[in-house]
Order: sequence, then C-alpha cells, then structure tokens
Amino acid sequence: MRSKLPNVGTTIFTTMSKMALDHGAINLSQGFPNFPVDPKLISILEKKTLENVHQYAPMPGNPELLENIGQLIYKTYNRNNNPSSEILICAGATEAIFASIQAFVSSGEEVIMFDPSYDCYEPPIILSGAKPIRIPMTDTLKPDWNILKDRISPKTRMIIINNPHNPSGRILEEEDFSILEDVLKERPDIILLSDEVYEFITFEKKHISINSRKNLVNQSVIVSSFGKTFHITGWKIGYLIAPDSLLKEIKKVHQFLVFSVNSLAQAVIAEYLKHIDVADLGPFYMKKRDHFRKLMQESKFELLPSEGTYFQLAKYNEISNASDVVFCESLVKEFGVAAIPLSVFNKDSKDLKLIRFCFAKDNTTLELAAEKLCKI
Ligand code: PMP
Ligand code: GLN
Repeated sequence: MRSKLPNVGTTIFTTMSKMALDHGAINLSQGFPNFPVDPKLISILEKKTLENVHQYAPMPGNPELLENIGQLIYKTYNRNNNPSSEILICAGATEAIFASIQAFVSSGEEVIMFDPSYDCYEPPIILSGAKPIRIPMTDTLKPDWNILKDRISPKTRMIIINNPHNPSGRILEEEDFSILEDVLKERPDIILLSDEVYEFITFEKKHISINSRKNLVNQSVIVSSFGKTFHITGWKIGYLIAPDSLLKEIKKVHQFLVFSVNSLAQAVIAEYLKHIDVADLGPFYMKKRDHFRKLMQESKFELLPSEGTYFQLAKYNEISNASDVVFCESLVKEFGVAAIPLSVFNKDSKDLKLIRFCFAKDNTTLELAAEKLCKI
C-alpha cells in the first residue's frame, strides 16, 4: 500500500485523551471544556428538535444562521458583509481549513505556516501535492516575519496564521499586522488563511481580527468555530468568511466534502446567537486562567504568558531533562495528569521542552490537577 500520508499517525489529542482514560488521569491534554453547556442552549435544542429542521440544510448554511453570523461580524469588527455570498457554515474549523486548502492550493505550490502549528494544516497541503513550508516562531513564540519574507517565493500560494494561537496562547499585535500588510501588498495572489477559532477568547489585550484589516480582507479566508465559542466541541460546527470570488471556489469543495452541515445544530445556533453576548467569553476564561496560574505558583513548572485561547504553556526543565513526549507519558502514568507535548506541533518534532495544559475545566478539576502537579 502506497500511503498518501506516510508520516501521519493518530493525533496527539486522541492519544493523550486515551492515555488519560486508561490511567485514570486528569485530562488537561485535548482542548475541550468539561463543564456543562449553557442551559439556555439545551432548552433551545429541545424546542428545535420538535420543529421541521431535520432534512438537508441549504449547502452554504441555514439562511438565518448566515444572517446572524454576518451581524455578529459586523457588530464585532465593523466589517460590512453579504452573508449569503461571503459566509459558509462548515463541519467545524477542520473542514473549513481542509476545504480552503483544497480549493486554492495545487501541486508544486507552497504554503507557509509558523511552527508550532496546529495539526490539521499540513495533511491537506500534502494531499493537494503542494509543499508545506514550516518556519519556526521566535523564542517568545511569535511569528518571525523576517523568516517569512525570506521564504516567500513565486510558488507561495497561501500563508496560514493562527490568532489567538494554539498552542502558545500568544496573540498578534498591531505591528504584526502592519508588517503582514506590507508583505502581502506586493503579492495579491497569495491567500491568507487566518485560523481564528479562539477569536472571542482573549484576556488583557483585545483580539485583532483580519476582519478588521481593510488591506487584507480581500485576499483572506477567516475561519472560526462554535465548538470553542459555545463550549460544544462535539457539535463540530464552525464557519468561514471570505470575499465572494474566493468563497465560490471553497463552496465547490465543500459541497462534495460534506454537502451541508448538521441541520439541527444550525437551527439551534441561529436562535442561540440572539441570546448571548460573546464578549462574556474572554472574562470567563480569564478567571480560569488566573485560577490555574495561581494554583500552579507553588509548582516547579515555569508558566509562559497566556494572552488568549484556553491553553497554558509550561517549561519543565527544573523537573526533568526528558523529551517532552517522555515527560508527558510519565506525567500521566506516575502523576495522574495528562498534558500535550509541544514537539508534535513542530517540524521534525523539534523539542523545546514545553508542554501544554488546557484550563477549560471546572474549578475542582483544575484544583485537583494543580495539587498533583505541585507535588512533582
Ligand atoms: N484550529 C485550531 C487552532 C484549533 O485549536 C482547533 C481545535 N478545535 C481547530 C482549528 C479545529 O476546530 P473544530 O473542532 O471546530 O474543527
Ligand atoms: N483543538 C483541540 C486541541 O488543540 C483538539 C481537537 C482534536 O482533538 N482534533 O486540543
């Protein structure tokens, strides 16, 4: 059998969550909340189940949901948009990213991304016969724009950014965008794929979205996920926004990848969007971040800044010299806490001796985990 993805195995998230289960460990590895979802969402779900929403939704999405997302984007970022031609409901951000890469990237072309990078970017690039160009971030885990400038070539078709960033928890700032704008001004043929699934989870500093960058929107595809925003990762539903001419191409892939997305979930979220304020999400997770960081103060881990997402990076060099993968294995087996080793997000598994904890957990879970981690 000739594999098209010879270097792809089971993802680290599946592996670590299974290890946590097998060893009865507290799971701070895979990024998903362990607290109940909003009762309001459940009551809308119960009501909608009885309505006529069980057949195929329109291919681009439930019109009311498209409309409500359009308003959310306008309200949040002041971006004028036409929901029926510029927004697409996807089966999670994963599908949005896959469809976008397949729609634009061809054999022999190059796609640039920054390492550490989320795991669903590289496989669709390889499947389309293109070459992933993975460039390292700076020591403070911010994009290195100088390396980017060096690596852009006539073959560059797409640049992928992720902001707020998983796994680092860093966010991009004004100067990052002005550099990117300068670079892309010269290359209107390059598509910017901006993964903003944690767009509403930032803390002291506000999230700057590509939606608000007038010089970039016309060549950008922006991806978001309701899994993150509404604590429903299992629903696998998200959206993307792109100019009409780009979205037309993405729809061609989307309609043969999934055709349309779960109709009940779309109807429920269309209604739920009228009842919630996404601005509450940042403060909600900031409390969790602060609680976890305080609990960890007595530990030997060194915590890096977390400006957004629900992830906290930690250095463990005061505890062990082991590789991050081996360290995470011993953390689960001997100390009862599961985390994610950062090397899996890097080209050639480069090991920075960093691990990632997810703090999207109820307070008791965070307290029990920190108690164990402080004993190491
Ligand atoms: N991008 C990033 C950075 C992520 O952390 C995730 C994980 N949720 C995704 C994309 C995929 O999102 P979804 O679960 O909506 O497919
Ligand atoms: N995005 C989640 C994380 O970073 C994982 C999602 C998945 O398991 N595919 O932990």
